[in-house]
Amino acid sequence: MTATLALTEDLLRRPSVSPEDHGCLEVIAACLEPLGFRIERLNFGPVGNLWARRGDEGPVLCFAGHTDVVPTGPREEWRTDPFEPVIRDGILYGRGAADMKSGLAAMVTAMERFVARHPRHRGSLAVLFTSDEEGPSVDGTRRVMEVLEARGEKIDWCIVGEPTSQDFLGDTIKVGRRGSLSGRLTVHGVQGHIAYPQLADNPVHGFAPAMAELVSTTWDSGNEFFQPTSFQISNISAGTGAPNVIPGEMKVRFNLRFSTEQTVEQVQRRVIGILDRHRVNYSLEWFVSGLPFLTRPGVLTETVGRAVREVTGRTPAYSTTGGTSDGRFIAPTGAQVVEFGVANATIHKVNECVRIADIEQLSRAYERMMELLLAQ
Ligand SMILES: [Zn+2]
Repeated sequence: MTATLALTEDLLRRPSVSPEDHGCLEVIAACLEPLGFRIERLNFGPVGNLWARRGDEGPVLCFAGHTDVVPTGPREEWRTDPFEPVIRDGILYGRGAADMKSGLAAMVTAMERFVARHPRHRGSLAVLFTSDEEGPSVDGTRRVMEVLEARGEKIDWCIVGEPTSQDFLGDTIKVGRRGSLSGRLTVHGVQGHIAYPQLADNPVHGFAPAMAELVSTTWDSGNEFFQPTSFQISNISAGTGAPNVIPGEMKVRFNLRFSTEQTVEQVQRRVIGILDRHRVNYSLEWFVSGLPFLTRPGVLTETVGRAVREVTGRTPAYSTTGGTSDGRFIAPTGAQVVEFGVANATIHKVNECVRIADIEQLSRAYERMMELLLAQ
């Protein structure tokens, strides 16, 4: 068994459902400390974070990721115990196998080999791992970045090990992510007897024309790097359950995934403009879960692309699709951020799995990135 597979299995045996870390960060710190990394545990409440750095100079190349996993879902649908790694036909099964314990293990063993070969590398090699990526993401990477900012510590290049590949390892890397803006809308009306509509005010009818415009609006056409901004309603509810009562209010939850063509304020202004134009009587709460970010073509995107090509033989597509990631907290500090990891077809599902051959190739690709960026 290779070191990367052994470490992946060790991490998979720890049921680190968010925000629990279950000792994963200790195991990783114990690998990094003998390599000469300075270990810092930055824990906030139940959330564990690890900042480890080898070297004092810039540039700082940081590998980022998370030890927490999403819940298993129905256990009876798993063919194996989700917290007992099982290998079948070259595939490793377990919760976190793809998202993203194999990625963490690949980073750590890549560092072991790189440091052995280049003990006097230039700049600094660093690790930022958290146990709060799948949860609220408040006390994880966001807080660690605040600590680093406060003492003037900068990350120049950050490689996030999220599972970005689609069909084959190396077919896709992420160079940015869309922003995510949610709204909780309450449409106010007046409840009444359905036979006396003149004495009531139906919030469903009041909202309907505005909804038609919201769902058919073209927010932008995207750009070279981003797909167009999208508006989606996730939840809608009104009514007392009785067939003869006009509801007194309606609740609507919606979300916009927006590109760098928009600011939060611009999106908010357009939504409010549509509601006001249709004279909807409403109150509205906003929640920004991430701003869009983009790493433009440069040293990091070229290096990651080259390493992926050399190791996997595939030329990766540069994408900004999919959900947001912790890169949203790292990129605003000026760091270049690129994400690369294993295939994401089974993440968050039952029977999550990863090809063992991919774990080894991933580790070699990470090592090659370190060589290209930090070898003397
Ligand atoms: Zn993840």
